Amino acid sequence: MTFPLLTSKVLSKAGFPHGFTTRLGGVSPPPFDTLDFAVLRDPALLRENQARLAAAVGFAPGVLHQAMQVHGARLLVAGGDPAATLALEADALAAEPGTGHAVAVRVADCVPVLLADPATGRVAAAHAGWRGVEAGVVGASARHLLGASGAGPASGLVAAIGPSIGPCCFEVGGDVADRIVRASSPSALDRRVGEKAFVDLRAAVRAQLVELGLADDAVDDVPSRGRSGCTRCDRERYYSYRRDGDASGRLLGVIVAR
Ligand SMILES: [Zn+2]
Repeated sequence: MTFPLLTSKVLSKAGFPHGFTTRLGGVSPPPFDTLDFAVLRDPALLRENQARLAAAVGFAPGVLHQAMQVHGARLLVAGGDPAATLALEADALAAEPGTGHAVAVRVADCVPVLLADPATGRVAAAHAGWRGVEAGVVGASARHLLGASGAGPASGLVAAIGPSIGPCCFEVGGDVADRIVRASSPSALDRRVGEKAFVDLRAAVRAQLVELGLADDAVDDVPSRGRSGCTRCDRERYYSYRRDGDASGRLLGVIVAR
């Protein structure tokens, strides 16, 4: 059985097991077909989808840590019972070196961001929609890794950005676009159309990572290679909340501590 997983050359080269899922390769029925990672649907189907992911990425199913995502900037360090962590509100999760813990974020249009420190083996996963971009969840994740290593900025962190809604489809009010640009960079603004604007969330995340001191070539925008990587445009490969609303499944971005 093929299990398509999008991976980053930068993270692979640094030796971190990781991946961004598509909607292919799982067991969920329509309209969530087939690799849905939403946590409040059929538990048996979710367990099977998670087991397939664990086998494909290379971690034990019992060490997959996730949190209750609320579009904020709080970071939790994974540990203890994953079921307990899932009840805690956070939009970033970090895993300690030597634990083999996997940390993951669920997305359906928001940007999944995976960060790693090759010097320590420490990793983090962040869920960054426009509210998370504004709240600073990417910075909270990078600063956690940098602080934990005792290194200064530009210490050699590496990061991968996964599939999200693209600038083709991410229409917001002009005021929201201004807030995203203020929190990131003018490069996040794709175009204005009257009172509305189209925003490139992955460009916003990249700008934040570079501002934090990551080298430009240490930030890998995985879906930009090849197809557009827009979750809303590519129904075959991705879930999209903006396209499908409550009938949308959830993709996962996951990374494992070394
Ligand atoms: Zn699109």
